[in-house]
Amino acid sequence: MSLPGALWLLGHPVQHSLSPKFQDAALRAAGIPLEYTALDVPPDALQSVLEQVRARHAAGNVTVPHKEAAFQACDSTTEIAARIEAVNAFKVEDGRLLGHNTDVAGVDHAVRALVGDPTGLTIALLGAGGAAAAVLAAAESWDADIRMRSRTPERARALAQRVAGVAEVVRRVADALEDADLVINATPIGMTSNAFPCPLDSIPTGAAVLDLVYRPNETRWVREARARGHRAADGMGMLIEQGALAFEWWFGVEPDREVMRMAVR
Ligand code: NAP
Repeated sequence: MSLPGALWLLGHPVQHSLSPKFQDAALRAAGIPLEYTALDVPPDALQSVLEQVRARHAAGNVTVPHKEAAFQACDSTTEIAARIEAVNAFKVEDGRLLGHNTDVAGVDHAVRALVGDPTGLTIALLGAGGAAAAVLAAAESWDADIRMRSRTPERARALAQRVAGVAEVVRRVADALEDADLVINATPIGMTSNAFPCPLDSIPTGAAVLDLVYRPNETRWVREARARGHRAADGMGMLIEQGALAFEWWFGVEPDREVMRMAVR
């Protein structure tokens, strides 16, 4: 297998991303002589950077806000990327830009690690952006009852139509939380502050709590949910898994996930 000419993360902003830390650790552990570099790419520069990707036979990841634009720019994509019209991993083969999405399998992994088999669960999903789209695509194989609530209801309705038949859109957070077995935060609330996506006393007793946001030492929402007796996890498990699956797609070998986890701990 020939190695990519470079390994890049394209996002805006990207300086706080943890991906270079754990991808570089995995590259060293696998003996692959590449470095994973985060590039800050403003939206108006994405197309020219993708031309450099093609020219240099680069591979890598795409993050906020470029996942949908990168999907549009690819010459072809995997089925799962087409399902949610978003790409978070790319590579070049025979001069063609190929796109993939590993967020869907990443969130599936995180949910199963927290609650086991999600079949039959009632799930409150807060948010209706890219992360929520990954949850809905994963949920197509769960047979779960999902109630999605977003600050902007039209966005939730549009997403529920795009990944059809998986989620019901509700107006209030309380409607989503009623009788929920699992509460998923797919908003950025808690990323840069200690704010909560929903009050902890509104979460049913016994419900599990999954925050897709990740921070060093977890989010306060996750820590306090656990202190109240809820099973709870932050987005680190999803982050590592989506990165590990991208690594495998680029290089055809599985990375050492424990090395990746240690690198961000
Ligand atoms: P996004 O596409 O921008 O969508 C964000 C969603 O949250 C939208 O529904 C938005 O509503 C809502 N929202 C934003 N600010 C809010 C606020 N202050 N109050 C209520 N709702 C608010 O973002 P995304 O890509 O889905 O990412 C969401 C979070 O998931 C980010 O923190 C990201 O880091 C995390 N994430 C984690 C992983 C992982 O691997 N763990 C992977 C992907 C994403 P409006 O439409 O009203 O703005």
